Amino acid sequence: MKKAFGTLLALIILFAGILLIKTLRYESRQSHYHKTNDIEISETTAQNLSESIRIKTISYDNSPSFDSSVFNNFLIFLEDKFPLCDSLLDKKIINNYSVLYKWKGKNKALKPAILLAHIDVVPAEGKWQEDPFSGLIKDNYIWGRGSLDDKVGVLGTLEAAEILLKENFKPERTVYFAFGHDEEVMGKNGAKKIAEWLKEQKVEAEFILDEGLVVTEGLVPGIENPVALIGIAEKGYLTLKLSVKMHGGHSSMPENETSLGVLSEAISQIERNKPDAKITPPVDAFLSSIGPEMPFAKKIIFANRWLFESAIINTYENTTAGNALVRTTVVPTIISSGVKENVIPDLAEAIVNLRTLPGESNSELIKELKNTIGDERIKIEVLTEINPSSVSPTHTPGFNIIDKSIKQVFPNTYVAPSLMIAGTDSKHYSSISKNIYRFLPIRLSKNDLTRIHGSNERIKVEDYKNVIRFYYQLMKNI
Ligand SMILES: [Zn+2]
Repeated sequence: MKKAFGTLLALIILFAGILLIKTLRYESRQSHYHKTNDIEISETTAQNLSESIRIKTISYDNSPSFDSSVFNNFLIFLEDKFPLCDSLLDKKIINNYSVLYKWKGKNKALKPAILLAHIDVVPAEGKWQEDPFSGLIKDNYIWGRGSLDDKVGVLGTLEAAEILLKENFKPERTVYFAFGHDEEVMGKNGAKKIAEWLKEQKVEAEFILDEGLVVTEGLVPGIENPVALIGIAEKGYLTLKLSVKMHGGHSSMPENETSLGVLSEAISQIERNKPDAKITPPVDAFLSSIGPEMPFAKKIIFANRWLFESAIINTYENTTAGNALVRTTVVPTIISSGVKENVIPDLAEAIVNLRTLPGESNSELIKELKNTIGDERIKIEVLTEINPSSVSPTHTPGFNIIDKSIKQVFPNTYVAPSLMIAGTDSKHYSSISKNIYRFLPIRLSKNDLTRIHGSNERIKVEDYKNVIRFYYQLMKNI
């Protein structure tokens, strides 16, 4: 008895020792760059962003609503406000409303970098505190649609280039600025065409930086410092139509089963049997970058993933945002059937939207879904399909340049790769570069994140100045 107790105690001590040693050896992976002195940014930059918001470059889901005149006005606005970019860089209008600038670098041996942003915005619905297209500057905020997504990217890039051109600066490598005009409706007329044109010119980029994740504050539990997240992959998008056709008729004499009942059962099965949760490489990279910065009690968990992996996944699953990072989500969004209260419909249809994790294949998921439903009467049709992106490596010049620029502008900030759950224009550039990063240099708290595509979109004037400072540093580091 005594001997058994002694062995158990020894095992516990050994086990605790392993946990402890692994935790103590779990070292920070953060790079160390000094914050640079803030460059002076003129107040007219805020005025320019405000003015750009007043040009209603809205992308609607139905293309007849597209207003070409506002998109033309936007291009004229850029010409007018950024005279040095307009005259000193090569500029090409692509497919009428998208624009590509080329700034030739000093070193021809280096592959170019491409900075992406988009001109269009989503419509402004819901209740707003201020007019969404007024561009009002009030109490140190610039208000309106596009102030975060993504006129801030277009103008921030050009303001930085304008300052650098005034200083007679020339980047080391060639830099392209590629601004599409229909990102919010999948980018098929804008980003896709720009990428095709670049491909024809045989442009192969060292890296691409698009909008995406941001400098978050208070988002990562256990971390007090700001965390700049760089999207190294984005989830795929798959929309399916489920339909079932059965005998309808008068509701006074129903059959045992109906199309509505069968479809409802299928949806219910889908909700009950979700795809498995798992840690994919971008989330793995996030955990490895942030884990060592955690307070000791949490650090033990991250340093010993071999033991706590399922606990970590469980924590992710507990929130909707976390769940989306570890799972291919499947959700019904539209259901339609029936026209009259006393008529049994023949046809019942449902739209189901999936967001697929990197590494997963759509055809496999559809096969799994069929198994889950387990009813041959349900037909599945693919309506929209975008594959998940590949995962960009982080030991690259591009990632280092972005990391360095973040640390030069945002003090005490940790940088971590992560996964984008929404889509960006960068999906059209997969043949131009393997190193695609999704990051927008704006500081946002958890509550501010809902302003993107939501109501009351706005940016602090000082935060906008830091956007310009980031792109300024980036082009110097490029
Ligand atoms: Zn956007």
